[in-house]
Amino acid sequence: MKNVVVGVDIGGTNTVFGLVDKAGKVLGESHLKTTDYPVVNDFVKALVAGIKKMMSDHADVELSGVGIGAPDANFHRGTIEHAPNLAWKGIVPLADLIKKEINVPVVVTNDANAAAMGEMVFGGAKNMKNFIVLTLGTGLGSGIVVDGKMVYGHTGFAGEVGHLIVVPNGRECGCGRNGCLETYASATGLVKTVSLMISEMREESILRDIPPSELTSKQIAEAAARKDPVAVKAMEYTAEKLGFGIVNSIVYTSPEAIFLFGGLAQAGEMLFKPVREYLEKHNYVLFRDTVKILPSGISESNGAVLGAAALILNELSE
Ligand SMILES: [Zn+2]
Repeated sequence: MKNVVVGVDIGGTNTVFGLVDKAGKVLGESHLKTTDYPVVNDFVKALVAGIKKMMSDHADVELSGVGIGAPDANFHRGTIEHAPNLAWKGIVPLADLIKKEINVPVVVTNDANAAAMGEMVFGGAKNMKNFIVLTLGTGLGSGIVVDGKMVYGHTGFAGEVGHLIVVPNGRECGCGRNGCLETYASATGLVKTVSLMISEMREESILRDIPPSELTSKQIAEAAARKDPVAVKAMEYTAEKLGFGIVNSIVYTSPEAIFLFGGLAQAGEMLFKPVREYLEKHNYVLFRDTVKILPSGISESNGAVLGAAALILNELSE
């Protein structure tokens, strides 16, 4: 019998889950449409049925545990709490609901913490004890590891770099405040920056031909790579805000590396280079040249499942 775990990534639209062995090999993967299950109990039943089906498709495997990455998840309590992009309102005791159906350890954390676990167990942070993972997608998620431990804090919600206020009274954030880093340094933030710059700048730009509602961070990164002046300026502005958030995070935890993961990180050097330059100029002197800015060592395609699997593997090993 081979021991395996299941990694589950719950997103606003889709839920992906996979059977993963100790070496990080994904043996099977399946998915559900999260939006098909407005009642959480129905979701749990469908997920558990999916896991059992996957187990029965593989001979000689034994399930040791389930790790789950989800929005607004609380590691301490095994809950999802007041997630604005899920239909399940209030506090959802997800780990307990799943444990009732399938008698193995179940751990839950937010998706960015799961990504950081994936980086630590299977990715570029294998030999690191201090690092930060920033997931740059629709929003900005983060997982912070200090002295080999994920930072959860008093509430279980610690390490929300996306909600560092970088511009007092700045852009409106989904959290109800203004000027949070994720309103600038995310795919959504970059698109917003370009729409503002297009009306303020006079330079020619191929981005002017794209209707604002159809503009994507990928198109902007491609335009920046071709030296489009609006795109270049927008990438620099985004990198500056991201760099600001990073130098402020560094003073708290002195990480060895910051990993950039997710859609916007695909912009590659168009983003990494100006972020590194910002750090060279603004990083606190004691931390100069001590922090690497790196792409994630985990592939985008199954990164979320691997992260959730790493979470439970790490828990079982303790
Ligand atoms: Zn916010």
